[in-house]
Amino acid sequence: MLWPESARWEALVVRFADLVERAGYGLVQTPTFEDAAVFRRGIGDESEVVGKEMYEFADRDGSMLALRPEGTAPVVRAYLQHRPALPCKAWYVAPAFRHERPQAGRYRQHHQVGIEALGVADPDLDVEVIWLGARYLGSLGLSRIELSLNSIGDENCRPAYIELLRAALLAHRDELCDEHRDRIATNPLRILDCKRPECRAVSETLPRLSDHLCEDCAAHFARVRDGLDALGIPYVLNHLLVRGLDYYTRTTFELAAGALESAQNVVLGGGRYDGLVAAVGGPATPGIGFGSGIERALLACDAEGAFAPAPRPLDAFVVDVAGGESARQLTASLRAAGLSADRAFDGRSMKSQIKAADHSGASLALIVGPEELAAGTVLVRPLRDDGGQHPVALADAVAAVRRELEARGSA
Ligand SMILES: [Zn+2]
Ligand SMILES: [Zn+2]
Repeated sequence: MLWPESARWEALVVRFADLVERAGYGLVQTPTFEDAAVFRRGIGDESEVVGKEMYEFADRDGSMLALRPEGTAPVVRAYLQHRPALPCKAWYVAPAFRHERPQAGRYRQHHQVGIEALGVADPDLDVEVIWLGARYLGSLGLSRIELSLNSIGDENCRPAYIELLRAALLAHRDELCDEHRDRIATNPLRILDCKRPECRAVSETLPRLSDHLCEDCAAHFARVRDGLDALGIPYVLNHLLVRGLDYYTRTTFELAAGALESAQNVVLGGGRYDGLVAAVGGPATPGIGFGSGIERALLACDAEGAFAPAPRPLDAFVVDVAGGESARQLTASLRAAGLSADRAFDGRSMKSQIKAADHSGASLALIVGPEELAAGTVLVRPLRDDGGQHPVALADAVAAVRRELEARGSA
């Protein structure tokens, strides 16, 4: 990825960082590859991401490594290794690797921003995390965003529901897709996740987990919904929004972009995982977070004509055809003063250097020829408007550039 696309990418990350850091989240950086067990235990072999899409390979000593397929498990692993004080609120921006069929906005290496918050079971944290996700997409200028919400219960209420689900699914066994016809015994929750029309049709008729929550889970869900209502965040309930693994608990949510095709329109997804830290060998610690693919979010921006940060042109380009000493000094002085500046190298001709100055997009050219060098001056020439050029004293050049930029409203 090159500029100008990379500049937009950078602006997105800066915007995300600014938002979540103001909410108390600190940057965590985890390795690109980890012991494969981090993901096998942290996400689960049953999941599509680990079972079918994770890049896994033997290291030189035979131990199994995996390229990071998602952001949550490495953060939990890092928490267990370093044990920062709780609550532990972390954000990340990182590449993720999945061997899946290439599709719009989803490459085998794509990039995600996300947050994870460990150590708090309070439903108000769910509200904070969802608000940050919605706020992030809103800050990109996306207006057609829909929040889907569900609760998937916990170890108290889910087992009884799964029995209920299993019985209901057995009655519809022959109508399920090929993959799921024989999954009823092992992981019936995954069937709710299936996007194939056969399974979808059956799912609509099944009992809903949100109708079978225990008292604590129901109270938690009610407080999450109250909190979202109080903050004016609209949502739709989607009882098919499940994560089919035991350590995911209670709140699950997705933010979808209305401007994208419905099969690939989820730009941000997350949920609570109160059983995950214990599942990977740590003390029982609640957690919640979300991840969001950068490429897909930018596709949604393209579809809405949103988030096109204005390019930031250089303030000045130094043209020096009098030996190069002035170019070296002037660019250093301008940059040290906090202005942006570039220059030509290799002692090229005046014509060639002016062309480079034009090409750079700079607002001003600072020109030093033999006459200026002898007189101790610099010629200031506007490149983007008809303002005339004029000489200033070399010692006054930085201040002169500032004045010129201020006059143009670009400083
Ligand atoms: Zn299916
Ligand atoms: Zn429950």
